[in-house]
Amino acid sequence: MISAQQVCKNFGALQVLKGISLEVSRGEVMCLIGPSGSGKSTFLRCINHLEQVNAGRLYVDGELVGYREKGGRLYELHPREAARQRRDIGMVFQHFNLFPHRTALENVIEAPTQVKKIRKAEAVTRAEELLDRVGLADKAGSYPAQLSGGQQQRVAIARALAMDPKLMLFDEPTSALDPELVGEVLGVMRELAASGMTMVVVTHEMGFAREVADQLVFMDGGVVVESGEPRGLLSDPQHERTKAFLSRIL
Ligand code: ATP
Ligand code: MG
Repeated sequence: MISAQQVCKNFGALQVLKGISLEVSRGEVMCLIGPSGSGKSTFLRCINHLEQVNAGRLYVDGELVGYREKGGRLYELHPREAARQRRDIGMVFQHFNLFPHRTALENVIEAPTQVKKIRKAEAVTRAEELLDRVGLADKAGSYPAQLSGGQQQRVAIARALAMDPKLMLFDEPTSALDPELVGEVLGVMRELAASGMTMVVVTHEMGFAREVADQLVFMDGGVVVESGEPRGLLSDPQHERTKAFLSRIL
């Protein structure tokens, strides 16, 4: 589903991604860990084409992200084409970014009705199903300010799922939550993983990574230092940098 081949990204003179190569198969869950500033969010944003890769190749579902290849050369995609690529990828952020003046249900139907032009009645039915799936059937009419952080994040997940994404990206989805609310969000993500969704999750929740991830990737300084099956990597890291990082957070 994702194939990154020597992906590089810089902001001016600052090289943030220095040749990231990794593969995520359909239905797989990859957890991404690493110190602050190592490039985790930037990499997720490249997958979603919120940032344009500067070098290397990044494929999602067989399509080059952000570029078209012709005669061995790369051409930037038309913004409309880039938007189409982004539509199939759901993203959930640390700060839930819900529309404050819309109810939970209105948040969930926004993109399907506005972007996909799905009929409102149909979008509402589907939104109700999704809110039920994240355990919020009774909160459809609530505004974000009336919901707890964990509930808001679950609405954000339902909102992303409403576009029927083929891939879900999570950027520290539980980092802004009070500890007692983390579990309910991880529970929804766990179920999503079990349903076969392909997921890339930046997280500090090592319990979740250990139990749910198929692959754990440790990034530092814009490179993949080490990756592998999570239990093995967590119990027996091979690189000093991984050991040092894990000893700080475990
Ligand atoms: P954190 O754990 O703190 O979220 P991260 O691993 O997600 O960190 P990134 O947000 O990807 O790290 O940032 C990597 C580096 O890129 C940082 O040095 C950051 O300051 C820089 N950076 C990110 N976005 C931009 C931007 N739009 N312009 C300039 N520099 C940026
Ligand atoms: Mg980040």
